[in-house]
Amino acid sequence: MSTISHWIDGAAVTVPDARTQPVFNPATGEVTGQLQLADTALVDRAVASASAAAAEWRRSSLARRTQVLFAFRELVRTHADELAAAITAEHGKVLDDAAGEVARGLDNVDYAVGIAEHLKGSYSAEVSTGIDVRTVREALGVVVGITPFNFPVMVPLWMCTTAIAAGNAFVLKPSERDPSASLLLADLWQQAGLPDGVFTVVQGDPTAVQALIDHPDVAAVSFVGSTPVAKSVYESGTRAGKRVQALGGAKNHMVVLPDADLGMAADAAVSAAYGSAGERCMAVSVLVAVGDVADQLIKEITVRANDIVIGDGTVAGTGMGPLITEAHRDRVAGYVDAGAAAGATVVLDGRRSELPASGFFLGPSLIDHVSEEMSVYRDEIFGPVLSVVRVDTFDEAIALVNRNEYANGVALFTRDGGAARQFERDIEVGMVGVNVPIPVPVAHHSFGGWKNSLFGSHHMYGPEGLAFFTRAKVVTSRWPDPATSTVDLGFPRNR
Ligand code: NAD
Repeated sequence: MSTISHWIDGAAVTVPDARTQPVFNPATGEVTGQLQLADTALVDRAVASASAAAAEWRRSSLARRTQVLFAFRELVRTHADELAAAITAEHGKVLDDAAGEVARGLDNVDYAVGIAEHLKGSYSAEVSTGIDVRTVREALGVVVGITPFNFPVMVPLWMCTTAIAAGNAFVLKPSERDPSASLLLADLWQQAGLPDGVFTVVQGDPTAVQALIDHPDVAAVSFVGSTPVAKSVYESGTRAGKRVQALGGAKNHMVVLPDADLGMAADAAVSAAYGSAGERCMAVSVLVAVGDVADQLIKEITVRANDIVIGDGTVAGTGMGPLITEAHRDRVAGYVDAGAAAGATVVLDGRRSELPASGFFLGPSLIDHVSEEMSVYRDEIFGPVLSVVRVDTFDEAIALVNRNEYANGVALFTRDGGAARQFERDIEVGMVGVNVPIPVPVAHHSFGGWKNSLFGSHHMYGPEGLAFFTRAKVVTSRWPDPATSTVDLGFPRNR
């Protein structure tokens, strides 16, 4: 069994007698590693190294940073299989899905290699007589990323690519459930020529998170995880005077109009609800069936869900892997009973699927006649459970989505362009898909929900990510003839 270390100053670091926590292979239920958990002293050591590195890195030329980013891009590409295998080993998602995660993370590296273009700034000549103004964006210093278990490569890449390209030193606190991929990323950054200390990994639990938030040399915190933790990180971070973006949980609706192609809608619902065992923040967890589409849709979804092969994600042909922990699997399964007890109809119960004997497996569940007050509708379940809410009209569907406390993603399935346009205008959700069930924006746009799905004012990655990891400096300059200089006590006005 391996010891899973931190990464500080360009080297793996373990601390004798440190607190540790087991890491599991969720497909077998076996413990595969012991993770070192940072205490405050370890966090201090990591931030000190990052601080020293940040002072140098912010002065490095854009040409140098671009070279490192291009090298990193090539290394992520050539090590994509290794990264995907590391994801599957600790997260459980099937290898092909893990490869997709790496590919979407790579998109963020592609965005970051254009840093010289993105940081061009703006310049206005002769804004007033003899006066020019330029705005440049500068690095913040040491910035921290705290990431969830469900995308152990992609979410760190959402953050560290832009943060580092912009000239910051980045400290990653990965999820304690699947921490190993972070060390592969650290190794690739080093191979790419990134100076030691610019990318740091601190392994740990809430103790490490709090120590990072409280550290006076940390300028900003980028967080992705569940809503209660996102809210608390946002509040304690901003109270400590830091810049914080904290992305939280989700309850994503997929609205199906009567004119939609129901076969295509069923394909999309099954893919988006049960892919990665429903452990995606953009997973569809509520199907809103408008008018008379519900019965046919449920029939089509059931056929497809029954075809999903559940098992070890490393085995070819597997469609759905395990959930992240035994406790989480049991919690998710509990919602099937809660739905039935509240009066909903259980069409598929994931506990009855053909499941491997060991590991944290649960098959797809489908629950019909769900209504708004039921816990199966209200709570983020984060597992392979799809609820069906039946409504009579399109307006009711929009009102239902807009009443929900979460507003990460939403999708509409229709062949009616006018309805799609109305949906796009009226829906109060951060990321909208039209016949696209998982509308994760490409890397040169930005990712973020509204309401309880995001605390803070910047979305993640792309232009907003770059704005988050930099601060504007506005330089106003003039080069007058000293002979024309006078004292003028009036407020300077533009002439
Ligand atoms: P989580 O909130 O349990 O953990 C996220 C991170 O916070 C981890 O690094 C963890 O160590 C740390 N953490 C946990 N409890 C903490 C506490 N009390 N104090 C301080 N830090 C703490 O989330 P998770 O279970 O790892 O991930 C799943 C959640 O993340 C889901 O709610 C999902 O919707 C959300 N998520 C959101 C997005 C998004 O973009 N909005 C993306 C991915 C995942």
